[in-house]
Amino acid sequence: MDLLACPKCGSELFVSTRQGERIVFQMDAERNPVIAQPDRIAADAAPINPGRLYCGACAWQGAAQELVESRM
Ligand SMILES: [Zn+2]
Repeated sequence: MDLLACPKCGSELFVSTRQGERIVFQMDAERNPVIAQPDRIAADAAPINPGRLYCGACAWQGAAQELVESRM
């Protein structure tokens, strides 16, 4: 599966929010979220907003359109 990566650090892991319960996910080549652990999402977790993604590894935040092809 081809994944997209953070344009700043290259991480393939993103989170739905910086605060509170979050969803951890990856983004496929069609810019659809791929949820790593769907059975572990809290009921009150912030939903994934394609217009505002947060990198799981650095301070980057931005829209799905800004992601780059993973080089990993
Ligand atoms: Zn990053």
